[in-house]
Amino acid sequence: MGDWRKNIRTVEPYVPGEQPKYEDMIKLNTNENPYPPAPGVEKVLKSMETGDFRLYPKPDARELVDALAAEYGVPAEQVFVGVGSDDVLGMAFLTCFCGDKEILFPDITYSFYPVWADLFRIPYKRPALDENFRIKKEDYFVPNGGIVIANPNAPTSIALPLADIEEIVKHNPDSVVIIDEAYVDFGGESALPLVEKYDNLLVVQTFSKSRSMAGMRIGFAIGNRELIDAMYAVRNSYNSYTMNMPSILCGVEAVKDRAYFDKTRTAIMETREDTAKKLTALGFTVLPSATNFLFAAHESVPAEELFAMLREKHIYVRYFKQPGIQNYLRITIGTPEQMERFVAEVEQYLADRI
Ligand code: PMP
Repeated sequence: MGDWRKNIRTVEPYVPGEQPKYEDMIKLNTNENPYPPAPGVEKVLKSMETGDFRLYPKPDARELVDALAAEYGVPAEQVFVGVGSDDVLGMAFLTCFCGDKEILFPDITYSFYPVWADLFRIPYKRPALDENFRIKKEDYFVPNGGIVIANPNAPTSIALPLADIEEIVKHNPDSVVIIDEAYVDFGGESALPLVEKYDNLLVVQTFSKSRSMAGMRIGFAIGNRELIDAMYAVRNSYNSYTMNMPSILCGVEAVKDRAYFDKTRTAIMETREDTAKKLTALGFTVLPSATNFLFAAHESVPAEELFAMLREKHIYVRYFKQPGIQNYLRITIGTPEQMERFVAEVEQYLADRI
């Protein structure tokens, strides 16, 4: 037996929600958008010449970067694009958290953060949320090697007011503060306007939720130019062509269609409020959501039991067997019809169970 194993990197990977495929299934487990992408996406995809795929894509993903810069009112030099926000966040961790001090992120948040920290050997500390699942801003007013906050947070769905985010950024001039805004378009306040004021702020967003393009894998970050240059230097030391041609061109179409973006995200927010009301009436505690999902616990029926019951019926929601949240289900908002069926199944189960 050789000894090569001692040179292997061993890591505990992030495990995404399952992707089952059944005709009749209602998939509310990975926070995807139930509506198709903007109509322009299909048009541009159909117009593509496959012969063009012979060539490498533009390494700077110019068209997409320009479209994002125009939409968010920043110079193109302040925009970084990547293969979903997971890629962008991974690159941001690798670029921005190179000190010896511990980085900070909440104990209950996106479970990929500790995975990147472990992979890149970044020490970290996880301040606890308060008893209402809220981030306590004061926990981030201590010396640290960097901060990452999902706002709105996942899986809690709760948004922190922008004034609190600003205080955290202001208190930490010696650290990069990453705000992961994967869900911000469903009712949160974006920190993008603060980028001009604070050079230590990096705002990360994705096309996977509000732009219905999880399968295309597009994410982006906006920050001051020096920070973005540093991220591209790291990215280009690893892989210069992360963005493929269809993603670049389809991404542009999604960004351009503001009316469609507003229509679909508004529909989701309306369905969310309606579903929250119905679940509350059925005995659930539903946390106040500024996202495209609900985080809810029933007063008497364990979440794991509801999760298993729904799964049997091919309705998939997310359950985290994690201390502090093991009685909660994370339920992605689908179409009104999908949510009606979900609520009806839960209602029936609760009625039969007594
Ligand atoms: N941040 C948060 C908080 C998320 O929940 C997700 C979705 N898993 C992501 C980032 C990454 O999404 P994507 O890579 O599809 O942009």
